[in-house]
Amino acid sequence: MKFGFDIDDTLINLREHAFHLYNRKLGKQVDIALFRELKRLEIHELFGLTDEQGHQLWNSLMEEIYFTDCPAFEGAVDFVNQLAKDGHSIFYITSRPKQYCLKTRWWLKERGFPVIDHQFYCGMKDREKAEIIRKLELDVYFDDKPAVLETLKGANTKVYMKDQSYNKQLHFPRVYNWKAFQLEKWNLQQN
Ligand SMILES: [Mg+2]
Repeated sequence: MKFGFDIDDTLINLREHAFHLYNRKLGKQVDIALFRELKRLEIHELFGLTDEQGHQLWNSLMEEIYFTDCPAFEGAVDFVNQLAKDGHSIFYITSRPKQYCLKTRWWLKERGFPVIDHQFYCGMKDREKAEIIRKLELDVYFDDKPAVLETLKGANTKVYMKDQSYNKQLHFPRVYNWKAFQLEKWNLQQN
């Protein structure tokens, strides 16, 4: 079967990594409990920044956010590796900007994720993901972002959502914890 994964905040804990980085860079001590209650994906409002200031800060720190020591979610590396070992095809579909694509692919490998170079899709807009997912005829796809998930309603692909504080309003089956996560049985009975 073909499995597709978003990367940021689906397989790796990028926002929280950025949150700690923002605290350090801005000399603040914003409580992590506030972060965990955020209802939107962007984190800058916790630091008293406007949307514009927030986007500027994110863009100026992007390289550092992406390529330092952002941890994978517990169990994520093992989960994806087990699928690969079981003979499934693994695809990554990320909207990270084009200039970071090659380095992101390398970084994922370094972290222990199984990556086949031509099964790595990067640099597209959120809404373009749905098209790629359809073209690839993925059987299963995982993402966290409401704007992406909304475009996948009614798709032939089975969609799972990584549980986050900002996607509580959506109704897809959730991955709370990669270590404990199990695919619904019908997924694995196909093929
Ligand atoms: Mg994501």
